[in-house]
Amino acid sequence: MIEMKEVFKVYKNGVTALNGVDVTINQGDFVYVVGPSGAGKTSFIKMMYREEVPSRGNVYINGVEIGGLKKKEIPYLRRDVGVIFQDFKLLPRKSVYENVAFALEVIEENSKKIRRQVMKVLEQVGLKHKARFIPAQLSGGEQQRVAIARAIINNPKLVIADEPTGNLDPETSWEIMRIFEDINSKGTTIIMATHSQDIVNQLKKRVIAMEKGQIVRDEHRGEYGYEA
Ligand code: ADP
Ligand code: ADP
Repeated sequence: MIEMKEVFKVYKNGVTALNGVDVTINQGDFVYVVGPSGAGKTSFIKMMYREEVPSRGNVYINGVEIGGLKKKEIPYLRRDVGVIFQDFKLLPRKSVYENVAFALEVIEENSKKIRRQVMKVLEQVGLKHKARFIPAQLSGGEQQRVAIARAIINNPKLVIADEPTGNLDPETSWEIMRIFEDINSKGTTIIMATHSQDIVNQLKKRVIAMEKGQIVRDEHRGEYGYEA
């Protein structure tokens, strides 16, 4: 479903963040992206939801070359991709319910249907009982679960997470991983950049290791660790 061919990214300041990346990721894969800070992990995953475009090379999502998408076509791509960040990025003045409902692509859905759908994903992440809370009233792990609910409300085929457990304690991180496994078991592709050696080594998945803008290792049920 995701294919990159000879992808290079050079930022305006001259930094080469991606230096010839070739990769294929199939529907339903669960992939960790590891590597030292500055290796290009964030740039790599930003290519997949067109947050950045390649300076050279091609990125295909389900056969569509997304570098060439017109601005008005980008929302159609994003509808199929849920993104989760280390710092949650919730709307601070909105309730849990509103944070999730806000992300719903409303195409003449009636409010009863919206409500049912929002409560369903909140139940999936174990936060049905906190629908009326605002983010500041929640723990970090709970806030991340809201962000996950928001990311999956439109049933995306792909979920991308950039260090989703980076701000969480180990126990809370495992709760988040159980939710990702649950989402993945239903066929959604998960791509997760992480610095968590424990998670990568204990919950074995495909590991893509990056260094200096290149993929230096790509292993099925791989381990954490890189040369640098
Ligand atoms: P990682 O996620 O592995 O830390 P990044 O993709 O964030 O790697 O960064 C790769 C390199 O590109 C780093 O040297 C970083 O400073 C640089 N970089 C990232 N984003 C930008 C940007 N928007 N403008 C300029 N340089 C950037
Ligand atoms: P991480 O290490 O968690 O991947 P970074 O600290 O590398 O994140 O980057 C955080 C954000 O800042 C990213 O959106 C990245 O694109 C941007 N960024 C990183 N380095 C630079 C830079 N040198 N110039 C401008 N933006 C940058």
